[in-house]
Amino acid sequence: MNEMAVPRPNNLDAFWMPYTDNRYFKANPRMLARAEGMSYFTPEGREVLDATAGLWCCNAGHGRREITEAIQRQAAVLDFAPTFQLGHPLAFEAAARLAEILPDGLDRVFWTNSGSESADTALKIALAYHKARGEGGRTRLIGRERGYHGVGFGGMSVGGIGPNRKQFGALLPYVDHLPHTHGIEANRWSRGQPGEGASRADALEALVALHGAETIAAVMVEPVAGSTGVLPPPRGYLERLREICTKHGILLVFDEVITGFGRLGTPFGAERLGVVPDIMTMAKGLTNAAVPMGAVAAKDEVYRAVVEGSPGGIELFHGYTYSGHPLAAAAAIATMELHRSEDLPGRAKAIEGEWQEAAHAMRGLPHVTDVRDCGLIAGIEMEPRPGAPGQRALDVFRRCFDDGVLVRVTGDIVALSPPLIVEKPHMERIFGTLSDAIRAAA
Ligand code: PMP
Repeated sequence: MNEMAVPRPNNLDAFWMPYTDNRYFKANPRMLARAEGMSYFTPEGREVLDATAGLWCCNAGHGRREITEAIQRQAAVLDFAPTFQLGHPLAFEAAARLAEILPDGLDRVFWTNSGSESADTALKIALAYHKARGEGGRTRLIGRERGYHGVGFGGMSVGGIGPNRKQFGALLPYVDHLPHTHGIEANRWSRGQPGEGASRADALEALVALHGAETIAAVMVEPVAGSTGVLPPPRGYLERLREICTKHGILLVFDEVITGFGRLGTPFGAERLGVVPDIMTMAKGLTNAAVPMGAVAAKDEVYRAVVEGSPGGIELFHGYTYSGHPLAAAAAIATMELHRSEDLPGRAKAIEGEWQEAAHAMRGLPHVTDVRDCGLIAGIEMEPRPGAPGQRALDVFRRCFDDGVLVRVTGDIVALSPPLIVEKPHMERIFGTLSDAIRAAA
């Protein structure tokens, strides 16, 4: 073992791993024990280049001392303080910092601890908003097929991924789904936003006609769907959703858990895509994932309706013990400072063209049926093995890991989202290893 080695655990039984084939993993454990910059290291010290920023979250790269030291300093000053009927300075300072970089109009920040909590919080805020305005009949929530909004009951119900839902019974009532925007032939091999498919947003008008706008509270979508295989929005699609929501008094919620914090070359996806929602959810890149934290931003009008619509006392009966946790708030401030001082969104934008070229060079490899990208995200779709959906991509994932590159797979799609500090030599390694793995898996 080299000097940087970390002991492997003796017993893998007790940890019931999330979203994992536990039996396979425990027979074939692949572990990460250390990380720095663009790289992870296995317990034995073998480097694995991170082409996924952890789980779309370590946007500034790993082990950033500016962040970890801020957490350590804060832990020594104030380990915990509640934010129910009390406060601590960093929870306010972090919210003010976040409001400064959010798109205009999104001024109010509610703290959560994850993307899932942010999704459920956003949906509850939307319901509370309509109720406060005397429109309590607006209880219907609309998501999208192939949408992912985490695993709470709200986000899972509004989400549109079959396997995530089918195991858990009836879910929330009064939820509808818009069609996804995937599978349009003219959009294959698209670069950035695809050209066709804006009219799929018109399904929202159809739902309004069916149920009545007075029953619909909110529409929640990811600006670029990530977890279901990288689906950038067709040009005009989000604009159309915005228009229909505004026309009918429906709140538009963007889930920016992946697209926030520089991933698309702008602080948030909303700016790059030119559409501002009424409510936005965030997590992941907010603290660079050094400690868990999520957030929901709402337009001032939404906040004021709920707060001023209340007779006095508590206005929103919702919150988490760890909302605005001091260590997370310290991490968020340090992360936002790093994004500013290193202009991470600008850095992502500057390298996006090379990233796109490198991703699209995967076209022509065996069984690759589509490549798409947006900002520093790329999806490489492969034809499933007959009778074994998902197996080809899993095979590619395992080969890449064993050859020193971490990719992510969803179905038969390889999803890539490197830290925003990625440089050309990293890209050469990522796509070189990936193409070898795709050929080998064929
Ligand atoms: N929303 C989106 C768009 C996500 O990608 C994710 C996580 N991949 C979530 C919500 C859930 O976040 P978490 O796992 O932190 O609960």
